[in-house]
Amino acid sequence: MKTIGMLGGMSWESTALYYRSINELVRQQLGGLHSAKIVLHSVDFEEIETLQRAGDWQRAGEILGEAARGLELVGADFLLICTNTMHLVAAQVSEYIQIPLLHLADATATRLRDAGVTKVGLLGTAYTMEQVFYKERIEAAGIEVIVPDKAGRDEVNRIIFTELCLGVVNDDSREIYLQQIEQMRSAGVQAVIEGCTEITMLLQPQHTDMPLFDTTAIHAEEAVRLALVGG
Ligand code: GLU
Repeated sequence: MKTIGMLGGMSWESTALYYRSINELVRQQLGGLHSAKIVLHSVDFEEIETLQRAGDWQRAGEILGEAARGLELVGADFLLICTNTMHLVAAQVSEYIQIPLLHLADATATRLRDAGVTKVGLLGTAYTMEQVFYKERIEAAGIEVIVPDKAGRDEVNRIIFTELCLGVVNDDSREIYLQQIEQMRSAGVQAVIEGCTEITMLLQPQHTDMPLFDTTAIHAEEAVRLALVGG
């Protein structure tokens, strides 16, 4: 089994979900007392979020790059950046390491393509919904990406940073997300990407008949597949 390197803490609420689901998948597949080999570097999210707001992606990338190098040094065979948003600096982080980076947007694009989705809605932070770094990887797979309007994006973003990243799950906020999904349905999307690793805390398949692509689950599943390739 390979050792999974996790860059986490963004937020730790979703890193905890990753940790649990990676271990559950390894137990399901190998049985007995098997569990995942993981090395984790968990940052102080307040520091990273301050840099995001300041637009200092360079410094945020340096912090994550140095952390990634540390994970490689202690035996990680490949790396997960456990947040969609910080894939904005994925290329910069890759420069610090020799091991592969399992890119979350690429893993999601593959799932969408395999499911035959050609037009998808994207919910995530404002950075993920408004900048190109994430959408372009989905579009490269031939899939059109739709995001909420400006007012909708602001609400989706606010709920991520003021509630979900603090572990707060609120029914009114779920309604706001469901409204955004319905608006994107009117624009013709066949599925929605939960493009922020905390959204799965708020919104699950029982809440809507819209197919949801949960990026936390997708990343965890791909990590376990890669970790177990070749035994
Ligand atoms: N975990 C979130 C994501 O997947 C947001 C936190 C962050 O800004 O990194 O985008």
